[in-house]
Amino acid sequence: MKTFLSSFISSLTPYTAGEQPQDRRYVKLNTNENPYPPSPKAAEALRTFDVDRLRLYPSPDADGLRDAIARAEGVERENVFCGNGSDEVLALCIPAFFDKGGRGAAFADITYSFYPVFCDFFSVPYRTVPLKSDYTMDLDAFSKADCDGILLTNPNAPTGIGIGRAVMEKFVAENPDKLIVADEAYMGFFGESAVSLTKRFKNLLVVKTFSKYYSLAGIRCGYAVGDKALIRGLFAAKDCFNSYPVDALCQAVCAAAVSDGEYYAAAAEKVRSERARLRTELIGLGFFVPESASNFLFAGHPKGGEFIYRGLKERGVLVRFWNTEKLKNFCRITIGTPEQDDELLFALRDILSR
Ligand code: PMP
Repeated sequence: MKTFLSSFISSLTPYTAGEQPQDRRYVKLNTNENPYPPSPKAAEALRTFDVDRLRLYPSPDADGLRDAIARAEGVERENVFCGNGSDEVLALCIPAFFDKGGRGAAFADITYSFYPVFCDFFSVPYRTVPLKSDYTMDLDAFSKADCDGILLTNPNAPTGIGIGRAVMEKFVAENPDKLIVADEAYMGFFGESAVSLTKRFKNLLVVKTFSKYYSLAGIRCGYAVGDKALIRGLFAAKDCFNSYPVDALCQAVCAAAVSDGEYYAAAAEKVRSERARLRTELIGLGFFVPESASNFLFAGHPKGGEFIYRGLKERGVLVRFWNTEKLKNFCRITIGTPEQDDELLFALRDILSR
């Protein structure tokens, strides 16, 4: 029977989002959401939003939101691009900055698994650079790689390992002919953002999200900060695809959130202190857990990631597991509230005592 699907779309392997089972109550530690609510200012912006504004299209370029982000990041509006989640911003980077017949993109073999999907979707070639044996990024290998640009998750996912600003600066300076896209989805939990470097380096684009640090995964907004020429490239890509990607409500709520730095700094501090506690507890239970700069832990166990993942799911706790050769001993565990993490630890003790 005719499927009506193009042979191109049939040939692709799409990204798989983290599961959201509805059969019971779960402690959800599988998609790196923030356990704390959006800021009171963001909530107020939502409550006081004038519904009549929804009759009209939003600002196509999200100018009010770009101004608020520019203020928070210490750049100008023309240095900021907003999209419908940082996934969309990252996706648009591919047609904006890479040629189909070019040298392509490079990224780590263990990193955000959406990158190869974006490249395949836009028919841009890519190569992967293995992480070092200690799970850190091999920056020397990236410098030597024959490519037009590098997608670098920092802190990396699922390892949680971060690259400090000084190291990043050296890396960007050493690679003037490569575009470095720093995906800083989890940077709020590390505090070493490369945004300030975008003023000096025209080959650096920093991509951030409202989903993690700003506790707004449900509203879908992300942004890029970089040289004005790069930002113009992203706008050209957007306007060939969707003129109004960021809706009016989202623009209002995110502008309020990004202006509430104190609230979010305090919430991130709670996540960081819980991260230290949970890591110590997991190590005590026999896990191997690299130091994390993020809001999740990369936890390996001799009994294997699948054993831990399944045991936890049976006990109502969701974590992320990938059944691949290099990741099969690990689970990625989002930092929850102390109460959620206690439930996780209780379940783990039960699983491991059997
Ligand atoms: N980058 C990384 C490394 C991520 O883990 C995620 C979340 N899955 C994203 C980008 C996308 O986040 P969002 O689309 O919610 O902004």
